[in-house]
Amino acid sequence: MYIVGEEEIAALANVIREGRLFRYGVGNECDRFESRYAAHLGVGHFALTVSGTYALSAAMIALGLGPGDEVLIPAHTYMATATAVLTTGAIPVIVDVDESITIDPAAIENAIGPRTRAVVPVHMWGAACNMDAIMDIARRHELWVIEDSCQGVGGGYEGKKFGSIGHIGAFSFNYYKNMTSGEGGGVSTSDERLAKRARCAIDPCHFYWTGREDGDEADKPFAGNGGRASELMGAMLNVQLDRIDGIVAAMRAEKKQVIEGTKKLSNLGLKLSPMNSPDHDCAAHLMYLMPSAEEAKRFTRIFPSVIAGKTGRHTYTEWDQVLMGMGAAHPAMNPYNHPDNAACRRTYSKDMCARSLEILNRTVMVPMHPKHSQAEIDAIIHNIEVASRAVLAGDEDGSIKPTSALDAQKFDMSAT
Ligand SMILES: *Cc1c(COP(=O)(O)O)cnc(C)c1O
Repeated sequence: MYIVGEEEIAALANVIREGRLFRYGVGNECDRFESRYAAHLGVGHFALTVSGTYALSAAMIALGLGPGDEVLIPAHTYMATATAVLTTGAIPVIVDVDESITIDPAAIENAIGPRTRAVVPVHMWGAACNMDAIMDIARRHELWVIEDSCQGVGGGYEGKKFGSIGHIGAFSFNYYKNMTSGEGGGVSTSDERLAKRARCAIDPCHFYWTGREDGDEADKPFAGNGGRASELMGAMLNVQLDRIDGIVAAMRAEKKQVIEGTKKLSNLGLKLSPMNSPDHDCAAHLMYLMPSAEEAKRFTRIFPSVIAGKTGRHTYTEWDQVLMGMGAAHPAMNPYNHPDNAACRRTYSKDMCARSLEILNRTVMVPMHPKHSQAEIDAIIHNIEVASRAVLAGDEDGSIKPTSALDAQKFDMSAT
């Protein structure tokens, strides 16, 4: 969500004017953001990096995942959740989502095998995963929990912020996310050793800039790729962080109004999707479960909104590299070929999570936006009613009201 003002421009101009473009020993915007965002999340450590994809990968490398390990991921997420697992040499195992369109705790439990070491709840579209159930399963089976909070900036679950509940979390500050510096991301954790390893995964020369320490075996630096954050990113995010509570509060207020305003339509059969933490999630989208995919299609044709299963890249059927078994550029580095992964579940098919597809294809998402005016919110409520009457009650009489010039931007959000 791109909500910026003169403050961001001034902060960026200041960094450029002063030539403070490197985070270590030159500028302090990244450092300042990391400690402020850690405090915002309620975790001990936050490490900035270039993207959410890189953050996920660094988080999984920090945990020590690798060949021989399986990581459970949901059938509905951006493909980076799956490809990040592959960057460690481990194998992603895809499990179903439930009607909240987040990972189904029962499906996690069913999928756990002798190789399973971790699970990735993804707070998709800002909606909360069922974290109590997931943490309980993780405790019983000794699994790591990596919260993919890339779409969950500003939101939380029952009073705790996303990315502070599992062992480690990953965030994205890409253009489409709730808070942005164009591109960007980071790793959250309260475990100091994990934080150190994540920083090494982000910058193998990190110890040079911040000081070497004598540690035991687990603290030794390792070779990796480079994803060091820029001071421009830090400067912009320091301003964006001042905005995020207001952004989320506005979306929550809109969500509440739209829920209230469409309540009476439940007697037509309009059904809200279940929410795992309705008062704490990001409220970036309101979701309705249509009786079938056919009704979802008709609904979105009448009132342009988004079908969760039809975004073109957020469902496992679209993850080409994973489905093709192209887990790395070089065949010898491909986890799908690695002998240690011989006992892992490595085969996928387009219908392996048919229940998820069925749910996703009848889930309609109505995007909220912090800049919606009261008239626009009223129009959204009106339009949901018109579409519901037509689709669920066969009453085709109503006309759709325009919901503003912001439409283009709102629908960009579905491109998250
Ligand atoms: C955006 C996103 C990512 C990746 O973030 P980038 O910053 O685009 O690399 C990972 N997971 C989810 C769920 C996302 O939405």
